[in-house]
Amino acid sequence: MHGVNKRRDVEFIKDDNDRLRAKCLDLCKWVIYVKRLFDTDTFELRTYNRRHTCSKVWSSRIYNSNLVSNLYIDDFRPNPNMIISHLLFSIWKAKKLIISKSQGLRTKKKTLDKVIRKVKEQFAMLENYIAELLRANPVSTNVLKIEENEIDKFQRIYICFDALTQGFVKGCRKLIRFDSCRLKSANGEQRLTAVGIDANNGLYPVAWALVETENKDSWSWFLRLLIDDIHICDSSD
Ligand SMILES: [Zn+2]
Repeated sequence: MHGVNKRRDVEFIKDDNDRLRAKCLDLCKWVIYVKRLFDTDTFELRTYNRRHTCSKVWSSRIYNSNLVSNLYIDDFRPNPNMIISHLLFSIWKAKKLIISKSQGLRTKKKTLDKVIRKVKEQFAMLENYIAELLRANPVSTNVLKIEENEIDKFQRIYICFDALTQGFVKGCRKLIRFDSCRLKSANGEQRLTAVGIDANNGLYPVAWALVETENKDSWSWFLRLLIDDIHICDSSD
């Protein structure tokens, strides 16, 4: 990061478990050499000339797509369709560094791959999470829905604890408020919630779900499960 922070084109001559030697490009005198002391985790600074005799650069080879993708992954997560010019402008604004459009495209691809891989890893843990919820709350309703046509692709999850439905039926007004919000994820999942009003006029969570998108089908699915859990029946007859 010295090269990025000082805006110098630093090159690693040697970089292994025991030794690191780096120098600045061209005729600059800046150089650093550290060596691991025998059989320890301590490194000794053998050579360090801290003074640069070169000029600042406005692009750096160190600022490669891997480094940029790690720095900007949190910006891509809620906004996977970020256009490249926005990324290039953000890097210029924050670091005063210029990266090429092709490097920006590589960065975007790498970042989205990391985001999608992370999401898949986390959703893969949902089955264990549901199993644990059912073990601790055996009467509760917890539904995990995986898309049939794709391997292990998360579609929906619904959670409604028996203790909450009992509390709602016995202690809340017969009123439920529904709401939804979009999650800051690469796939844009939505959270659906059903909230009651308790005896103190406080909000009382009843059930919630994550769905692939908010539409008639996902709301109908959520409402059908909720109706079963709180035993709503048609009393109009
Ligand atoms: Zn230099």
